[in-house]
Amino acid sequence: MGQGLSKNSPVQLELGKENYEALIERHGQWVRWRVASKCPCIKANTRQPDIHCKKCGGLGILYGYQKQATVSQTVMVCDSSGIIELDAAFIDCQLTRCYDNAGHIYENAKKTGPFVMLNAEKQPVKGVYVTVIMTAAVLKTVEHTHAESIGNGYYRVAGLRSSRTKTEGLYHTVPGDIEHIGTVRDTEGNTYEVGEIRQDCIFIKDLPQVPPKTLLIEQVQYIPPFTFVILNQNLSKSDAQVMQDNNGDAILTFPYTFDVSADDVITVLSGTYTQKSVVPKKDAEYDVIPAYFVDEIVKCSGTERDYTQGVDFILCGTNYLKWLCDDQPEDGEGYAITYKVYPTYKVVKAIPQIRTSENQRMPKKAVIKLYDTYGEARGLNRK
Ligand SMILES: [Zn+2]
Repeated sequence: MGQGLSKNSPVQLELGKENYEALIERHGQWVRWRVASKCPCIKANTRQPDIHCKKCGGLGILYGYQKQATVSQTVMVCDSSGIIELDAAFIDCQLTRCYDNAGHIYENAKKTGPFVMLNAEKQPVKGVYVTVIMTAAVLKTVEHTHAESIGNGYYRVAGLRSSRTKTEGLYHTVPGDIEHIGTVRDTEGNTYEVGEIRQDCIFIKDLPQVPPKTLLIEQVQYIPPFTFVILNQNLSKSDAQVMQDNNGDAILTFPYTFDVSADDVITVLSGTYTQKSVVPKKDAEYDVIPAYFVDEIVKCSGTERDYTQGVDFILCGTNYLKWLCDDQPEDGEGYAITYKVYPTYKVVKAIPQIRTSENQRMPKKAVIKLYDTYGEARGLNRK
């Protein structure tokens, strides 16, 4: 237990910025966060989704991501230049609004890199605090990078992994999720078409007999993993109560810049558990594995023989299997798989926060429940 985080400590009830950072340091986990929204196939009169909907697989929910986050920094004016400097982390953020502690709004303020020119008729004097509200894009862009072959048509795109070696238990790196790829070329200038996307890996269609080892990639857009806190013990009394009231499994704590809300999906990327299922071979392009996010298929046994990942089939998206071999199971035939799954939670309820002032940017909380116990493992989740 870190200092200030003990069971009976009052700071748990009032989680300020510093305590939140300590909490992240101790218990922060890499997660993949997907935002739920209603599929347009839901009929207004019955409120039921179309069970044949191709977009949502009949689930009525589509998963996306939060496009922008609102961020801010408060800086003390230290000279009469009318220019203030923000932290490097805010270089690419768009300016929304700018005001000082006397309530003056800087209507003509302009932001260039880390600098904000206040452009006021009367510049603020030394010692005045100016708050700059900005929007930050959640989607990141890499202009040029490369991808290395990992076999069987898959290439791993470089530079999309996050690491936090400082934090206990987080020594590994985790990939972001590719949302868009511009162009893919080999060193000779031939272009390739991207098929499936799985985290930071892309499947290349129609590769030549001797596939290139390296591909050059332009304009990759990806969502980096998030660091959130998931706790189910040592909770404050009120958190434990709200978790119990909503039949949840844990409490999620996340930065104020994000709007995690009901039905969103949180996948923990720092560990897996193993489970077994019998999957019926469908008369379709893919078979769906009954788990939200599959890391790896360890064993796959049909009635005739065992199949090998990467040779006989590939794992695509987050939970579907695509057959490659000719002697695949017959349509309707079941095959047994043993596979590793990332623990995935669904948000049951966002816990309302009391905001005392705009400057107090408190972390937010939500009640979450393990997806497997939620009874909705049928969703096809290609991205
Ligand atoms: Zn739909």
